[in-house]
Parts: sequence; C-alpha cells; structure tokens
Amino acid sequence: MPKHIFVTGGVVSSLGKGLTSASIGMVLEQRGLSVRMQKLDPYINVDPGTMSPYQHGEVYVLDDGSETDLDLGHYERFTNSPLTRNSNYTTGQIYLSVIEKERRGEFLGKTVQVIPHVTNEIKSVIKKLGEDGDVDVVITEIGGTVGDIESQPFLEAIRQYSLDIGKQHCLYIHLTLVPYLKAAGELKTKPTQHSVGQLREIGIQPDILICRTERSISRDDREKMALFCNVPFEAVIEEKDKDFSIYEVPLSLVENGLDELIVQNLNLDADPLDLNNWRDLLRRLRNPQHEISIAVVGKYAEHFDAYKSIYEALDHAGMHHQCQIRIGRILSEDVEREGPERLLAGYDGLLVPGGFGERGVEGKVEAIRFAREKGIPFFGICLGMQCAAIEFARNVVGLEKAHSTEFDKDTPHPVICLLDEQKQITDMGGTMRLGAQPAVLAPGSLARDVYEDSDVSERHRHRYEFNNVYRQQFAAHGLSFSGASPDNSLVEIVELPSHPWFLAVQFHPEFKSKPTKPQPLFAGFVAAAISRHAQKERSPAPESQV
Ligand code: GLN
Repeated sequence: MPKHIFVTGGVVSSLGKGLTSASIGMVLEQRGLSVRMQKLDPYINVDPGTMSPYQHGEVYVLDDGSETDLDLGHYERFTNSPLTRNSNYTTGQIYLSVIEKERRGEFLGKTVQVIPHVTNEIKSVIKKLGEDGDVDVVITEIGGTVGDIESQPFLEAIRQYSLDIGKQHCLYIHLTLVPYLKAAGELKTKPTQHSVGQLREIGIQPDILICRTERSISRDDREKMALFCNVPFEAVIEEKDKDFSIYEVPLSLVENGLDELIVQNLNLDADPLDLNNWRDLLRRLRNPQHEISIAVVGKYAEHFDAYKSIYEALDHAGMHHQCQIRIGRILSEDVEREGPERLLAGYDGLLVPGGFGERGVEGKVEAIRFAREKGIPFFGICLGMQCAAIEFARNVVGLEKAHSTEFDKDTPHPVICLLDEQKQITDMGGTMRLGAQPAVLAPGSLARDVYEDSDVSERHRHRYEFNNVYRQQFAAHGLSFSGASPDNSLVEIVELPSHPWFLAVQFHPEFKSKPTKPQPLFAGFVAAAISRHAQKERSPAPESQV
C-alpha cells in the first residue's frame, strides 16, 4: 500500500506549493522511491481550459489531452511521475461526477451530501492514483489557502483519509508564510500559528511546517512555531526565497533535512540521496559561457505565468548550452504601436508563443516579418506558427488580405482555418485538438536535424489549422512544410530554408522540456541565437546598435 503526503497552504496564495510539492517528489525519487503526483483544485471550473491566462496563468496540457493546472508543469519538470487526467481534479469535476452518479440512481434513494458523498468522491480519486502500478508515495497538493470556504471538502477528505488507511501511512505538510515586517524589523510567526490553528479546527494536525520566508528564521522563532503549532522543532523547515533559480528549491529543502524527515515519518525504505545530477545542472547555470537575449512577443507578456512553460523551456536550453538568456517580454500590441525596429532590433532571437483572440495579432505578424527579413532566429509556437503563415502569405506570396478565419471570417485568403470536425462544435471546454499527436519530419529539414529523429510526438491545444489549399503556393515561394501528421493531412511544422533559423510549429513543444532533458527545438533555437549573437559581435550590423 502506498504512503500519502498531503500538501496544504496557509496565510496567502502564490506561496509556491506546486514547486515545493514537485521538489518533494523529485527528492523522494532521487532516494529510489516511486512517486505519483496530483493536484486537487477547489475552483468550480471543470478544468482551467476555459479560464483566461490573466486568471489562471498557462493551461498545462498532458499527453492524454487533459488541460490542467500549471503546477503539473512543475511536477513533470521535476519528477518522472506519469501524469494523466487522474492527476488534476477540481471541485467542478468532483461534483460533476457525484451528480452524474445521482442521476444514474447510484445513491439508492439517499440524500446526497458533501459529507460523505463528495468527500468519498475526493478520497476515491486520491486512492486511484495510488493504484497506478508499483507506487511508494502519492503526493496530493490541495490548491487554495486553508480557510477558503471552497477548499473545506478537500481538507475534510484528507482528514478522513488517515482514519481510513491509518495515520502512520499519511503525512501532512503545511506550507506557510513567515513575513518580515520592516517597521518592526522582525519576522512574524503569528500568521503561521493562525493558519495551523485553522487546520487543527478541521481536525488536521500538520506533521511538518515548511516556512516560506525572505530572511533566515532564527532558532527562537522556529522553537516558537514548533511549540504553538504542536510540531517537533526539527519539523519546522525553512524555505527561503530563491532569487537565482527555482531549481535550487529541492537542494535547500534537503539541506534543511526535509527528505530524511519524510522518510523517517513514513517509515520508507529509501536509498541514500544522490543529487549530483541536479548540482551539476545548477553549476552550469551559475557559470554561463554565453549570454543572449530573446524577445518573447505575446498578448500576455506582462503576466509571468501565462507563458510559464516557455520561459522554463528556454531556461533548460540555456542550461544545456551554458548560456544565460535575457528574456524580453514584449506586448504584441506595443509592436503594433511602436514598430518592430524599435522594440526588437537588439535581440538575438524572437519567439512568438500560442494564444487566442485577435488582440495583438498584427503585432505578432509584424514582429515575424522583422525577424524573417533581418535573419533573426525565429521560433513560432501554435498561434505563433499561424501568424508566421499569415505573414508569409501577405508579404511573400502576395496574398495581401490573408488571415486566419479565427480573426477574419470573410478573409479572401483563409490560410489558417477551422477543420471540418471543429465546425460543428459549440461547447468551449475540452473540445480543441488536444494532447499528444504524432508528426513525421521531412528528410533534410532543419526540424529533422534538430530532433535527430524522423518521428516525434508533441502536445497540441488548438482549433485552427494550416489550410492545405495553400501548401503548393507557399512551397513555390520557399516555405518548407517539414513536419506533418502521418497521413500528411495536417501541417505540423513549417520552416524557411533560406533563413538562418526560422521554424514554427502547430504544437506546444514547451510542455515536454525538462531541466535534465531540454526540448530539442528549444535547444536548437537557443543555439541559433548564440550564433547570431557571436556573429553580431564579430561584425555589428546597424540594427544591433539601436
Ligand atoms: N487560437 C489558435 C487556435 O485555436 C491557436 C491556439 C494556440 O496557440 N494554442 O488554433
């Protein structure tokens, strides 16, 4: 029977529970244990797929096509836990399932209630994850903050869980904030005491406190929290802000004894810890041999979480090449207002990420034109590829009013359009082309060279596609279709052989990048930007002096 770790958060949101949970998973895996990870989100949307990036940040897509919370991205980047639909549940999903059961008459005439029916449903999804093969530890992160009305059924369910399987098989970790008050010149432990008080009211006594803090916590403060929160002194673990890299988090938790504490508490049969790989990674990050700048031009550029996996994937490619990457987050609407020269001239590469809706599209098209004409390495992702097709159609093929039917239904040249099967769909949730799909790469192409493979699988999340009617015309003007679905019916990758590095993909390669295994296209793009930078240093072009 697997052991269970439950991670809750207190005091404020955005404490980095996902990152901490992922770090715990990673450290346990490094001790030879088989781990499964899961997030339970208290909001009512069935999944984050219908939420704006401003509300929720990026929607993270799994191989099986589920649209999940971005914390699952941390889980995949840090651990080898296989993630599926069973790895992310929301209140909406839980209730949907309970209500469907009620309609089928499965509750045999009983009144359906939060306790026990909703809590039983929650417990069943926790249990299900532990039955996924040979599992030593299931880590379940509860979204939201203790004290929220909507998270109560989840907390009640995890309280009951230890009654069901035995307290010795469960561990409750509470992540909290120990703020520094400038006026008082000291750290404050009271919010933590209150937050733990609220958990205990529900009937959960945390075993371990992980304290997020800007400054080191004194022994006195740790003793105070141990006493007031009823946990052993050594179970008050400090997790100080990391200004260098998130990949330092697991190392700092280990330095503070967290892995050993978990192993002992749950009586796990674990190997000694070996973090040499991870340390090596950080060493590479600390000793860059190159420095480049990449412009990411998007609609949500000012929102850090909206393109989370893209920034992470760039970082991984940077670590791989021992290259420090300065990322310029540029609003595509600013490109429309100020022009690409002013905003993009100094950069060594341009990345245009995915997106929905018309706002800022013309700025993306202009940015791509600039990169194409100036020989700046360009990497387009999903909407980024669609914009590259629009730009090429208008400025190279001569189809002046070319557009995507997503933005102009009546365009005379619909180079991007809806697939027939998408035309009938009216529901918004979970109805796009989603998840892992195979692509076959053309011999001799940049894509094939970069992947070092002819068959790949990448994750998708889109409705619109390249319109095959235009393939020949585009090819005659020099655009190469270097990746397609195995039956050749869907365009997956386009590239421009006459350009130093110009490649755009209909899928989302960023979801499969790990610090220990950078995604090949990101690694190739960063390598091209490094060459561009070196070339500029050798013979500065006028635009690099802007
Ligand atoms: N809006 C485009 C589509 O639905 C692109 C989607 C995306 O970039 N993820 O096809």
